[in-house]
Order: sequence, then structure tokens, then C-alpha cells
Amino acid sequence: MLERLELFPHVIEMNYQARRRLGCCVYLIFDGTDWLLIDIGYEDTVTDIIELIRQMDFPLANCRYLVATHADVDHVQGLARAAELLPDSTTCGHPDAARLLAEGDRVTTYAEITAQGISIDMPTLELNQTIDEGDRLSIGELELDVWHTPGHTVGQLTFQLGNLLFSGDNIYRDGCVGNIDAHHGSDIPQFIESLVRIRDSDAEWLLPSHGPPFRKDNELLQSTIERLSGYCHMADFGTCAVDWPLMEEWDTELALGFRAD
Ligand SMILES: [Zn+2]
Repeated sequence: MLERLELFPHVIEMNYQARRRLGCCVYLIFDGTDWLLIDIGYEDTVTDIIELIRQMDFPLANCRYLVATHADVDHVQGLARAAELLPDSTTCGHPDAARLLAEGDRVTTYAEITAQGISIDMPTLELNQTIDEGDRLSIGELELDVWHTPGHTVGQLTFQLGNLLFSGDNIYRDGCVGNIDAHHGSDIPQFIESLVRIRDSDAEWLLPSHGPPFRKDNELLQSTIERLSGYCHMADFGTCAVDWPLMEEWDTELALGFRAD
């Protein structure tokens, strides 16, 4: 049996377990013999991940849930394959993620970024169950509270387990956030609300979907909130910006006429 490398009691992360980078963070939460996965990553790592789980002596038939934090290709490309290999599990995600997965939406999920020559497989899948704000997922005696935290994309979920927050693509240890892109359904004011909610929560640790876990740091969250608040008024963020104060200044100057001084 492979030694289980728990990050926190009841929580294993598969990149840490493998001691190498597989892709996005894949969290295995367990109690007794029951377990679930939050995200699965790309299809080509699915069999390695499931093999590691088997070697850690988790019964494959006891996978209760395969959860999608959201429907980006780097988080869910392998979900259909994992569902085949773990037929007793229930696949679940936000209704918006369910729609993108069922439709095989290649643009919103980043499977297709034509301008950068990116075009990868995005297997379609009908999720078994949709989950949303206020729902709970049970695993043994543990309960995960489901939060809807839109901003990075419409169907982004976060999960609270006691003092741990599985925070998806909301914020990483360096203060970066999941990318902001109009074609991805990003919404900066909603993103700020999600970050404020995380800042004001009683969670002590954030377990993001990329990179290492980190202790919740309200100064880091605040500086990220302020950065995104600035984005609301910058042309850099195109149609994701709320306004552009320079245009109002220009209107005034157009009325007054240009003076080269
Ligand atoms: Zn991501």
C-alpha cells in the first residue's frame, strides 16, 4: 500500500501525492472508506491518478462524487474518462458548468483558443447532478458546503470543509486570480464579491485549484480586491471593465477644444 500523504486530516492532493506536477490540483477528500475528488484535470493523467488512489487502498467503488469546480478544460477534460473508470460515482458541478459540458462548448471552456492555435479535445458529458449555493455534499461523516463564487467564470464553485476552503480559481498564493476574459464569462464586480466573501469567511486555509495551499491572508485578499476594483475602470480589460473614466474626461475636453500646452 502506498503511504497516504495528507495535507490536512481527510485531505490528499494528488500532485503532492505523486510528488510531481500532474496539472490542476486534484483534491481527494475521504472519511472511512468513502471518498470524492474535486476536479480531475486532463484526460491523460486520469489513469495515473486513479492508479495512485487504488494503491492508497481506497476502494474504487466507494468514490461518491466526481466534482467539477467549473468547466474549464484543464479541470474537466478527464471527467468523462474518470466517470467511466469510477461508475459508482456521481458527477456534479454548477448548472452553468453542466450546460457547458453537455454542449461541449469549446470556446468558453478554453478547449479552443483560435488566435493562439490552441485546439484540444473536450469530451462532452451529462453531469449526474447539479449543485449550487447552499447545497451540501456528504462524505462519511464530513459535510462540504457548496458556495457559488462567480467572477472567473459563471459556474465557479468553492467548497468549505470546516476551516478549509477549496477555493477554485478565485485566488492563488501569489495573489494572482483565475484569468479574466470576456469569452470565458468573467465578471469583475462578481469576482470582487466572491473575493470579499472569501476574505470575510472563517476559513483558515485556502486550497486553490492551481499551486500550493496557503493560510488565508486578508492583506493579500484585500490587495487583490483593490487590484480588481481598479480593473473595473481600465480599458485593459475591454468589455469586462465597467467604465473608462478617460472617456468622460475626453467628452469634457471635446467640448472645450484641444489645447496643446
Ligand atoms: Zn483553472
